[in-house]
Amino acid sequence: MIDTADRQKVYSVVDSRFDDFVRELSEYTRVATISAQGTKFAEGAEATRKVLEAHAARVRVMPEEGGPPVVVGEIEEDPSLPWVILYNHYDVQPVDPLDEWESDPFDPVVRDGKLFGRGTSDTKGNCVAQAIAIQAVRDVVGRLPVNVRYLLDGEEESGSPHLPPFADAHPELFRGLGATIEAANHAAGGKPVLSLGSKGILSVELGVRTAKVDQHSSLATVLPNAAWRLIGALRTLRSENGKVLIEGFEDGVPSPDPEMLRYLRKNSADPLAYKEIYGVTEVFGGKTRYMRLKRYMYGTTCTIDGMWSGYTGAGHKTVNPAVAHAKLDFRLLPGQRPDAVFDKLVAHLRNKGFGDVAVEKHSTFEPASSSIRERLPQAILAAVREVYGGEPLVYPWSAGSSTTWFFTRVGTPSPHPPGVGYDGSRAHAPNENIRLEDARRSMKAIAGMIMAL
Ligand SMILES: [Zn+2]
Repeated sequence: MIDTADRQKVYSVVDSRFDDFVRELSEYTRVATISAQGTKFAEGAEATRKVLEAHAARVRVMPEEGGPPVVVGEIEEDPSLPWVILYNHYDVQPVDPLDEWESDPFDPVVRDGKLFGRGTSDTKGNCVAQAIAIQAVRDVVGRLPVNVRYLLDGEEESGSPHLPPFADAHPELFRGLGATIEAANHAAGGKPVLSLGSKGILSVELGVRTAKVDQHSSLATVLPNAAWRLIGALRTLRSENGKVLIEGFEDGVPSPDPEMLRYLRKNSADPLAYKEIYGVTEVFGGKTRYMRLKRYMYGTTCTIDGMWSGYTGAGHKTVNPAVAHAKLDFRLLPGQRPDAVFDKLVAHLRNKGFGDVAVEKHSTFEPASSSIRERLPQAILAAVREVYGGEPLVYPWSAGSSTTWFFTRVGTPSPHPPGVGYDGSRAHAPNENIRLEDARRSMKAIAGMIMAL
């Protein structure tokens, strides 16, 4: 453990370099690598190389079969030291609807203590913050207590479809004492979040055809309707209160870790806040904050993301449609496997008499989580206590999905430390932004994490 005087020195160096953070992140944000649209992969990888090389990392831009390059930057202090890996991605989400942005998403600006731009929060800001923080430790202390590897994927926002073969070919890059995965947000009031993993996801499209062509709706007396047929199938998947009814759906999910439940009890967040934020009429889970939070974390989902059939344009067309489609996603808990859930979904529809409903797999992310007792999460806890003067909000995993499993499957504990973003960062939405004060403290927390190892 690096001593208190040096730790304080590191935190003031971070303060003194905060303008560099804003400048370097602004420059990085200008490179519009949008994986969904296949734009600027090479430029994004080069911009990432530049950020990491500016902070003493030896960088390799490694090809990925069929996908954009993976950028790996290393600071190897001593081959005998363990590795800490910092995972982020250099691609961003599309910016539509563009007219809802108050400023150009790729020309970042500071307004009211916030930096606005696509990728500032998700997740270029974390890469720049971590690189500057770790350099500050090195400059003050002389050398890091661990070796550090930055690993950046260029396709995370599209589900990292080409990362599995890359990870299989280079397992050593994913092995270490621990890996931080992107980063968790701050709560609106400024409390930092530590989560110990991420949920998984399976996205599918269902389709059913009941005729060669649409028909005059008067024929519905004697002919089937594709939309009703699809609704019938959908109704078998989920109960009214949200329970997924696919047989064996939650097989393999262990009962909650009592220690994580204790952290959850102390967590002051409340899904009831979504009433105000989204204007919903109801929040599920139960009467108490803890019950709602437990449902939010330990619940699984079967969500209809969209559905279409027949005529939905202006006016009215009396038609009996021949085809109907729905897009669904399932949020999964550690212990579930997306591919197995897909097979169970297909079998379920067949068993319920809906073998004519076609199911197409779109994308998956494996769920994964780590124990809070591992060294890296313990170092994050120590750093948060020092930098923020209190406990973080601790979650067993984030409700969204990420690359956590690529690391945990080779035995690397993979927490999500507090990052530059906050609950109002509008990741994936117009006017993505970070609050500069959150960013400043998250940089110190990353420096503190390294120093606590
Ligand atoms: Zn994202």
